[in-house]
Amino acid sequence: MKEDFYDILGISKGASAAEIKKAYRKKAVQFHPDKNPGDKEAEENFKKAAEAYEVLSDPDKKARYDQFGHQAFEGGGFGGGGMNMDDIFSQFGDIFGGGGFGGFGGFGGSGRQRRAKGSNLRIRVKLTLEEIANGVEKKIKVKRKIQAPGTTYKTCSTCNGSGQVTRITNTILGRMQTSAPCNVCGGAGQSIDHKPAGADAQGLKIEEETVSIKIPAGVEDGMQLKVSGKGNEAPGNGIAGDLLVAIEEVKHNDLQREGDNLHYDLYISFSEAALGTSREIDTVTGKVRIKIEEGVQSGKILRLRGKGIPNINGYGKGDLLVHVNVWTPRTLSREQKEFFQKMSQDDHFQPKPESSDKSFFEKVKDMFS
Ligand SMILES: [Zn+2]
Repeated sequence: MKEDFYDILGISKGASAAEIKKAYRKKAVQFHPDKNPGDKEAEENFKKAAEAYEVLSDPDKKARYDQFGHQAFEGGGFGGGGMNMDDIFSQFGDIFGGGGFGGFGGFGGSGRQRRAKGSNLRIRVKLTLEEIANGVEKKIKVKRKIQAPGTTYKTCSTCNGSGQVTRITNTILGRMQTSAPCNVCGGAGQSIDHKPAGADAQGLKIEEETVSIKIPAGVEDGMQLKVSGKGNEAPGNGIAGDLLVAIEEVKHNDLQREGDNLHYDLYISFSEAALGTSREIDTVTGKVRIKIEEGVQSGKILRLRGKGIPNINGYGKGDLLVHVNVWTPRTLSREQKEFFQKMSQDDHFQPKPESSDKSFFEKVKDMFS
């Protein structure tokens, strides 16, 4: 079920042309990709708002939509895929242009230059905590579209090779120049002269390529890295899209990550707590032997500085926090019971917390300070 265009823009059916434009401008600013990098939902909303505006700003389309709803456009361009980003940006001359020849400028000061770009490819890469801690180079096989060797191009006669057609319109804000991708060459500026067998209509073919991806230390689950130019190629003199690499962190058996810090639950026996002990534990950079002082209390946190994850922005390294848990035996033999019954009379077995034995809440406070 397609969302109602008025609902998308947050206006009522009786909204005036000025109200429609104002509502769309607000949505376009709110969901603009430059303001929401990598946010798919914002991009979707951005596209939806543009599509709604495209219809509601055109008196003819609006009348048809008001009468027939989305059915009015089925099979007519707005039924299925909606608009692409370039269509949307080309519309912006009308929406944001300050005066005179605006082109694509006028939003955030960054003029967008149009040049045909291949589509992006997306892959996921699974990384262990060790790989994340140390940084890693991954070689990944990627199926991407490349220009088929032997394809020749000629300059598009409709746009004379510029890839865009400009049109000048008079609007209430003054004279505007807007550009739209050339629909003959699809914005490439060139059209195919000759293509070899096996190439698609754009002179591209799919090829498997091994791409080497350098992953910096400190990445997190859900982060996205961009390898420029390793997406699908574009025909002619267009530029290749990007390869977007989503990071997936594989859960570690013993270590739990919290930002740049790591947590490790250490279980020691009752007698080890009383007598002291030493243990070898796993860290992301190999094994480390730690010493547990005699008389350690359950809940004590040992901080191993710099044994955590390097900060992705270069702000040092996190720590490894070892949580000491004293294991209480669940069952005891008769002799052991007698031993502890005897011991519980002993003054040493009576809890006598000192101020240095901080409460749980103070420890947590400490950890985050
Ligand atoms: Zn053209």
